[in-house]
Amino acid sequence: MTLTKISPATLSKITKLGIKRRIDWVLHLPLRYEDETKITLIADLIGGETAQVEGEIIHSEVTFRPRRSLICQLKDASDILYLRFLNFYPSQQQQLAIGKKVRALGEARDGFFGIEMVHPKCRAAGGNAPLKQSLTPIYPTTAGLPQATVQKYIQAALQDLELADTLPEALLQRWSLPSFSASVQALHNPPPGMAEDELTEWLCPFWRRIKFDELLAQQLSMRVHYQKRQQRLSPPLLSYQKLPPLLLQQLPFKLTRAQQKVRQEISRDLMAPHPMQRLLQGDVGSGKTIVAALAALQAIESGYQVALMAPTEILAEQHFLKLREWLAPLGITPVWLSGSLKKKAKTLATEQIAQGQTQLAIGTHALFQASVEFAKLGLVIVDEQHKFGVQQRLALRGKGQEPHQLMMSATPIPRTLAMSYYADLDVSVIDELPPGRTPVVTKLVNDARREEVFERVRLACVGGRQAYWVCPLIDESETLELKTALETFATLTEIFPELKIGLVHGKLANDEKVKTMAAFKAGDLNLLVATTVIEVGVDVPNATMMVIDHAERMGLSQLHQLRGRVGRGAAESWCVLLYQKPLSELARARLKIIFENTDGFEIAQQDLRLRGPGELLGARQSGVPMLRFADINEDADLLEAARDLADELLQQQPEVAHAHLHRWMANKPDYLHA
Ligand code: ADP
Ligand code: MG
Repeated sequence: MTLTKISPATLSKITKLGIKRRIDWVLHLPLRYEDETKITLIADLIGGETAQVEGEIIHSEVTFRPRRSLICQLKDASDILYLRFLNFYPSQQQQLAIGKKVRALGEARDGFFGIEMVHPKCRAAGGNAPLKQSLTPIYPTTAGLPQATVQKYIQAALQDLELADTLPEALLQRWSLPSFSASVQALHNPPPGMAEDELTEWLCPFWRRIKFDELLAQQLSMRVHYQKRQQRLSPPLLSYQKLPPLLLQQLPFKLTRAQQKVRQEISRDLMAPHPMQRLLQGDVGSGKTIVAALAALQAIESGYQVALMAPTEILAEQHFLKLREWLAPLGITPVWLSGSLKKKAKTLATEQIAQGQTQLAIGTHALFQASVEFAKLGLVIVDEQHKFGVQQRLALRGKGQEPHQLMMSATPIPRTLAMSYYADLDVSVIDELPPGRTPVVTKLVNDARREEVFERVRLACVGGRQAYWVCPLIDESETLELKTALETFATLTEIFPELKIGLVHGKLANDEKVKTMAAFKAGDLNLLVATTVIEVGVDVPNATMMVIDHAERMGLSQLHQLRGRVGRGAAESWCVLLYQKPLSELARARLKIIFENTDGFEIAQQDLRLRGPGELLGARQSGVPMLRFADINEDADLLEAARDLADELLQQQPEVAHAHLHRWMANKPDYLHA
C-alpha cells in the first residue's frame, strides 16, 4: 500500500498522529493489548477485569429509562451476562438480535441486574469462527481514524520496509537488547501465547529496546545541539577582576562556598569564545541574584551589554531595584524596560540600549521585542527560565552576534530530568543556603480553623513582623480570581482594623503594584494580600508568616516557591497551608509532600514521580524531544546507558549516530536542525 492513495482528510489525521514517513507507522506502537485468544465462562468473570465471553443472545430490548439504551442478555453454558449500550447503531441492534451467537469483549462489572459489560466489543461467533492466536494491539489514534485503518497501515509498513538495525550487534549484546525488527514485530504482532502482562511489564525486552532507542535518540539530538553550539562563535568576556571585587567588597555578606563554585563555572564559560548556555539552579533563597550580578559585571568590564529578563513585572522590578542599589557605587546604572512603560520612557530606554549608553537592561518580555536592538549584547540572563519558551530565548539570541546565556531556576530539576530533557545545557547548582536561616515551620490547617490562623497573623504583625496572605487560585477564570482576591482583601481589612494591609494582583496597574511592593518592603504595610503573582522572587526578610488559602489547589513547585518567600531572616517563620475538604487524592499527596519536605530537590523529585515531567518542564516542553515510551524514573538505568552510548557513538561511530537519529527524529526536523 502506498501513501499516495490516501485522501487529504485522512492524511491530515495521520499527520496529527505525528506520522510523516512510513517508518513512523512502525514506530507507532500500541498503547495496550486486548486478549481475544480465549473465551471465559460468564460464571468465571471477575469484576474490573477485561475478558472475552461467547454465547447466544436470549434477550434484546431498547429501554428509555433512565435514558435510551440497548440492553441484551447473553447466555452461555454457565450463566447470563447483561450487555449495555448507551449509543448504538441499528446495525448493532441487528447483530445483537435474539438468537444470534456473539463474542463480547469488555470489562466485567457488577451492575444493577447482575454482572454486566458496558459497550463491549462484539463480533459474530457463528459456526466455528477461530479464536485469535495472539494478543490484539490497540493503537493511539484520533477521531475519524479507526483502529482497523491504523492497523492496516502499520502491517503494510512492517511488511514492505527493511527494518535494518541502527545499532551494531556488539552494542545490543552489551546491553542484552533484542534487535529492532524483532522488537517492533513482537510489539505489533505479539507471538502466540505471549501473555499481556509479559508484554506490558516494563522489563519486557522488546519494550526495553524501544525505550532505549528513544532515549538514545533524545540524547544524541541534544548532544548534537550541544556540539553545534560549541562550534558557534561568541565574544569572549574576559575577566579583568576589577568590577566584581568592588561589588563583593560592599556586600554585607560573604559568598557561600556553593556560590563561589558556580560563579567560577560561569566565569570560565564566559571567557570561552563559544556561546555559554548554562542553567543555574538553586533553591529559593539560595542567592542566585548576586551570582547573576557578578556574571553581568564580567561582561560589562569587557565592554559588552547585558540583558536581564524576568517573567513578571514584580520580579523584574525587584531585580532592577536590587541591582541599581548594588551597582550604583560602581557607576553603573541599569535601564528598566517593560511593556507597561509609557511610550516616551520606552523610546528613551530603547535608544539608550541601541546606542550602547546602557550597559545593563533589566525587564520583562519587552526586552525580546523586535524594536529593541542592542549595540553590543554579550550576555543574556533569564530568571525563572522554565517560564520562557525556546522561541523567546531564540529571539533574544538574535539580538547580539551570539550572546552568552545564563538561565536561572528556583525549581530544582531532579537528576534524571536534568540528564534527559536538559542534556543540551550545562548545569550549575547552588546546593546550600546562606547561613543564618531558620527553617520554616509548615502547618496544615483545615479551613474550619480559619479563626485561629487570623490570630496567628495578628500576633506576628503586632509583634513587628510582616505576613503574606495568598488568595485562592482559580484556574477557570481570571475574573473570578480577581473577585476572590478583592473579597479576601475586604474581609481581612475588616478582621484586622489595626493593621495596614496592601493588595497586589495580576490586573493591577504596574505602578500601583510597584508602589505596594515597595511599601511592604519598607515595612509600611503589615500584611500583603496577594494572588500567586508573588510566587517568584519577592524578597522581604522581615516577613515571617505566609498563609496560603486553598493550598489544595496549588501545584507542588508553586507551594514550594510561595513558602520560600518566608524564612529569609534569622527569625522563626511559619507557613500555614489552609485547605478545604474534600481533598482529591492528588491534592492529599501534594500536601503531604510539602508538609514533610523542605528540600526543593526532594520535592521536585516527588513531583516528577507524581505527575511526570510535564509541569516541571514548563515552557521547555515545546523545545525538546519529548519521550513517548520511556519513563525517566522507571527507566533510569536505560537513560544512563543511553547517555554514555550517545557520547561514545558521536565520537567513534558518527555514522551510526546519524542513522539512529534519522530513524527516530527525521519527522521532527526542528530537533535536528535548530
Ligand atoms: P534566589 O536564589 O531565590 O533568587 P536571592 O538571590 O533573592 O535568592 O537571595 C535571597 C536573599 O539572600 C537575598 O536577600 C540576598 O541578598 C541574600 N543572600 C544571598 N547570598 C547570601 C550570602 N552568601 N549570605 C547571606 N545572604 C545572602
Ligand atoms: Mg531569585
